[in-house]
Amino acid sequence: MDYSSKIARQVAAVPRSGIRDFFELVQGRDDVISLGVGEPDFQTPWNIREAAIYSLEKGHTSYTSNLGLLQLRKLISGYVSDFFAVDYKAESEVLVTVGVSEAIDIALRALLNPGDEVIYHEPCYVSYCPSITMAYGEAVAVPTFKKDGFSLKADALEKVITPKSRVLMLNFPTNPTGATISNDDLKEIAELCVKHDLMVITDEIYSELRYDDPEHTSIASLPGMKERTILLHGFSKAFAMTGFRLGYACAPQPIIEAMMKIHQYSMLCAPITSQAAAIEALQNGAESVEKMKASYHQRRDFMVKRLNAMGLDCHSPGGAFYVFPEISKFGLKSKEFAMRLLEATNVAAVPGDAFGACGEGFLRCCYATSMEDIVIAMDRIEQFVRILETP
Ligand code: PLP
Repeated sequence: MDYSSKIARQVAAVPRSGIRDFFELVQGRDDVISLGVGEPDFQTPWNIREAAIYSLEKGHTSYTSNLGLLQLRKLISGYVSDFFAVDYKAESEVLVTVGVSEAIDIALRALLNPGDEVIYHEPCYVSYCPSITMAYGEAVAVPTFKKDGFSLKADALEKVITPKSRVLMLNFPTNPTGATISNDDLKEIAELCVKHDLMVITDEIYSELRYDDPEHTSIASLPGMKERTILLHGFSKAFAMTGFRLGYACAPQPIIEAMMKIHQYSMLCAPITSQAAAIEALQNGAESVEKMKASYHQRRDFMVKRLNAMGLDCHSPGGAFYVFPEISKFGLKSKEFAMRLLEATNVAAVPGDAFGACGEGFLRCCYATSMEDIVIAMDRIEQFVRILETP
């Protein structure tokens, strides 16, 4: 059968993730040091795993309310109030989702009509553009640049706003650049959103992982912004809980109601065992987050220092667990550089163009891997760079 006519156009239009493609090449190779996958190398803290086990032991294996367990939503509401300085009602303004991934998808589907434009800053997380396309939106990228630390500037944003612009997607700290945004820039962007009546989806999944300036400001906390913002957060990164697949969305009640409609028919609810683990994470996980963060901080400093010293120009990212060195001076495309690096040294890093066209000329190196491996990887990359430099 010819399946090309059977697959929906919106789905056929979307490419496979460049990260996954690259990592299929890594499968089956021995001795590869991976700076590739954006996933904590720590196991989920034991007390959180134990809470999941206890929950199963007690026989808690049912569906929960579509919105998620009320006890968890109350804890999320308290956490978001303390950490992001925005108040959401646990009963009606918080929705527990299957990871931030689901929250991105249903936020877009709840807001978009076909042809609505969604603006996002690039380089960006691989799911944004495909999720916009699959929700029948038009994806509009605003490039960001190394000279600005890959942060978003209001004047660049204003240039792409049209009467069809409906949503702005933000992600600070950013995957793949580790960029953060200053409060002044965030304020200017918020003013533009009010002026042009844009809704905002802000993915703040890395907000605990900030190093130089630990104060995180959410756009939702700025004047006039809560009413037009969907704040997304989750447990995967800071709590090292990727496999639990748990995230949440906070937004005004009518928006949560719209997202909940999609969630209840497609997902029903997030897994109860993961929700039990998340309750423990919010009640007793803060110390573990601080320990993991201190370790990432040390690894970031080491990696940035080594890369710059070997001539791979690299800004010091303020957050997340990625560095984004520039490799353009070697005259190789990102993909070719990454492939040759893998072939020659068995070090895997993701080509920057996997995160959008303006990531060309860069490489994403994740430092959520052991210091021991980072040291070996840096030694191998340095040898590779010396070979490239040899006339
Ligand atoms: N948003 C960003 C910016 C990410 O980097 C990731 C994962 O890498 C996700 C969302 C997905 O998060 P989750 O595991 O909660 O679905």
